[in-house]
Amino acid sequence: MLDAIIIGSGFGGAVTAARLAEANYRIAVLERGRRWDKDSFPRKPGDPWLFDVSRPVERHGWFDFRVFPHMSVVQGAGVGGGSLVYANISVDAKPDTFDAGWPAEITCDELAPHYARVGATMNVAPVPLNQWPERTRMMKEAATKSGWGDRFRQLDLAVTFDANWSYDLPDAHSPAHSKPVVNAQGRQQGTCVHLGDCDVGCKVNARNTLDLNYLAMAEDRGADIRPLHIVRTIEPIANGYRVHVDRIANGQLVPDQLDGRLVILAAGSLGSTEVLLRARNVTGTLPNVSDRVGRNWSSNGDFLTPAFHLLRKVLPTRGPTITSAIDLLDGTVDGEDIFIEDGGLPDLTRGFLEELAEKPAIPPHEHVRVAWLRMLARLHALPHIMPWFAQSRDAADGVLSLKDGKLFLDWNIAASEGAIDAVVKTHEKFARATQGLPLVPAPWTFAKDLVTPHPLGGARMASGPGEGVVDHKGDVFGHPNLFVADGAIVPKALGLNPSKTIAALAERIASIIVTEGR
Ligand SMILES: Cc1cc2nc3c(=O)[nH]c(=O)nc-3n(C[C@H](O)[C@H](O)[C@H](O)COP(=O)(O)OP(=O)(O)OC[C@H]3O[C@@H](n4cnc5c(N)ncnc54)[C@H](O)[C@@H]3O)c2cc1C
Ligand code: SF4
Repeated sequence: MLDAIIIGSGFGGAVTAARLAEANYRIAVLERGRRWDKDSFPRKPGDPWLFDVSRPVERHGWFDFRVFPHMSVVQGAGVGGGSLVYANISVDAKPDTFDAGWPAEITCDELAPHYARVGATMNVAPVPLNQWPERTRMMKEAATKSGWGDRFRQLDLAVTFDANWSYDLPDAHSPAHSKPVVNAQGRQQGTCVHLGDCDVGCKVNARNTLDLNYLAMAEDRGADIRPLHIVRTIEPIANGYRVHVDRIANGQLVPDQLDGRLVILAAGSLGSTEVLLRARNVTGTLPNVSDRVGRNWSSNGDFLTPAFHLLRKVLPTRGPTITSAIDLLDGTVDGEDIFIEDGGLPDLTRGFLEELAEKPAIPPHEHVRVAWLRMLARLHALPHIMPWFAQSRDAADGVLSLKDGKLFLDWNIAASEGAIDAVVKTHEKFARATQGLPLVPAPWTFAKDLVTPHPLGGARMASGPGEGVVDHKGDVFGHPNLFVADGAIVPKALGLNPSKTIAALAERIASIIVTEGR
């Protein structure tokens, strides 16, 4: 029997794996996705872009995109979880986040050393002052012109920068300008040359993703990381738990099982909640899981408004995907808490649009969106697009459940509409302040449809099983030594990028497990 089985290798899984392996626990990490490296990232239309939960043997690619009524969710799949696809932003939650809705033990001061460990291990830093992309300048200008100059701030990124790189270098974005470095975990990386492909994998390895730090530490201390292992359910056995998996092997799903004294669920907000729902309601193996499982799901209030800046070159495909924020998380806009960021587009988009522009006429069956994209390409509009991005504090009242055996999200915008409206209003204000024309997405205007990359909740932390699923240590009420350590335990919207908070909570959970000798 292993000391611990960790399910998922994103922020919660990688952090707990590293810390338990450091403390000499014998562990296995089960990850449904594959291992990726800079030579295997998807690049072309026919590449493995998607992980399809209903056809994982055929499709176990880069993004897991789920469509629910009025809310879609995008997540990473692979060794490194969300860090593979994320925009590298590493930011602490605001201190007032912990004033209500959390167990009393979780405070800003309590998490401070854990946040610091995450920042140090992931080697975070802001974009050097001599390397601001045009988007960062535009953010500062928008804040200043709107009377909120003091709300603008650069954000830390898990990216390795070279202080000597500059936009003025000849052929500045050439990978030849990326300098080889060996990181603190002994892994080979390169420095950032502002290629803009962060969300689709950095071909010079400048992103400090979890496979290159926390998971590297875990593996060096003996952790057994197993890709292509999809966890289905968990059952208690004498002195521990049995984890049932389907392995993707030889073009089929092969049932398997592993036994561990401890189990740490870190399959993300949707993944961990689904495993708990299945174990409670379908296999009946974890009957004591609180009936709050699935509740208090939040989209973290994410929204993106593209704006067309005819007279300015924004160059959204250059520079790290997000660099800065205008912090309005204090109710300044209509009493809502919002956090505006610049957004980038992968440089691949540029190549895709250029290819589209050269293609012959669009056949009638092609979607209207393609026609719109072609028009953008023909007008050479892409360099003038600013993707204004944001998070906000939504009502966190979504409910995850199993319907016909599949995960279902019941999402009602009513209590969260004010937050999104405040974001849209502020995006419009900032776009106009910088001579842009905001193009509020039609799916929001006409159908109140949203897309989020920041799913949170479903197995919330609370002081008792009447309010939540796990305690402040991440321990599942009613099933001791079964932990949840990922975005599922976050009990409410943070209103800003969540990965550092998830990792800090996981640092705290791992340190309690080790200190208590579990
Ligand atoms: C495009 C994009 C950009 C983002 N940018 C940022 C950013 O800049 N900053 C930020 O803070 N956050 C960002 N995020 C959000 C961030 O990625 C997530 O909040 C974070 O990854 C969640 O961490 P987690 O540990 O909860 O889950 P994840 O990181 O999602 O890890 C869960 C892992 O479990 C695996 N898994 C799921 N189900 C199973 C199963 N049944 N069996 C085995 N394995 C399973 C998954 O494949 C995945 O690897 C972004 C997300 C996206 C999609
Ligand atoms: S901007 Fe480009 S070089 Fe820099 S981290 Fe992102 S993908 Fe890598």
